[in-house]
Amino acid sequence: MPQPTLPPTLAVLERGWLSANSVVGFEADGSATVVDTGYVQHAPQTVALLAELLQGRALRRIVNTHLHSDHCGGNAALQAAHGGPQACAIEVPAGELDAVNAWDEDALSFRATAQRAAAFRAVRGIAAGSTVLLGARPWQAHAAPGHDPHALMLFDPASGVLISGDALWQDGFGVIFPELRGEPAFGAQRDTLQRIAALRPRCVIPGHGAAFSDVDAALQRARQRLDAFVADPLRHARHGVRVLLKFHLMQHAEALPRAALRQWFADAPLLAEVARRFWPQQALPALFDDTLDALCRAGAARDDGLSVANAG
Ligand SMILES: [Zn+2]
Repeated sequence: MPQPTLPPTLAVLERGWLSANSVVGFEADGSATVVDTGYVQHAPQTVALLAELLQGRALRRIVNTHLHSDHCGGNAALQAAHGGPQACAIEVPAGELDAVNAWDEDALSFRATAQRAAAFRAVRGIAAGSTVLLGARPWQAHAAPGHDPHALMLFDPASGVLISGDALWQDGFGVIFPELRGEPAFGAQRDTLQRIAALRPRCVIPGHGAAFSDVDAALQRARQRLDAFVADPLRHARHGVRVLLKFHLMQHAEALPRAALRQWFADAPLLAEVARRFWPQQALPALFDDTLDALCRAGAARDDGLSVANAG
């Protein structure tokens, strides 16, 4: 399917799964704005890719759809590369403003998921219902709870483009993290999908993967996936654990000693919590073995018994 056309004042830096996509807006005053900045490990690459795209324009604003490590990991490096906090402002979903400015790693997700991020401060919290200037257009900020309770989506009614973060991908959506912690959120995800349907976007720029215009089909797939998770929450929990292990593997170009990987798994607070909640009878090492087996069967990892490598 051909790529949908985007307004000329927007550019999408499509990344992979470790780093979310960045959406760059070219403003009327010659400056630029970026939405989401990738994972901290890729921060130098993110700075370089943006420099190439901006051609000397000043990056004045960084906006985050939500504060998962793969969406805000380049904030600090980009801000530093563009004149620091005085010249380049960071704006985050309103619900995360206090946690960010206190750099509260317990309230943010980084410690629980044993993922990394570089600290930054934000000057503004974006509330649902407010307007965000991007690419010389006013975008509506819409609440997108489910995957993340504070997440926002940005919608430009004039062009029909929706920046969905991890609320909707072409094939699915992000793990519904609150559910892993025992907080109901499948209903919130359903409402978010309904909100997207009501906006009738012409094109969606997702947090991961290419922009797409067959939005109805994507919503249909997402609803089916959500129905399956609601019917079997253990299936969702298994999926969440696999995603977290895979995300960790993706950070390593070289194979990891199996014992070190197992230790990382045991030390990640969210994984221990999920294990206790969903598989109270199963020891954590057995959950690790099952999860790694599943990744290997899916071609997403290779395990020779001593070391484990990312694959696929
Ligand atoms: Zn996310």
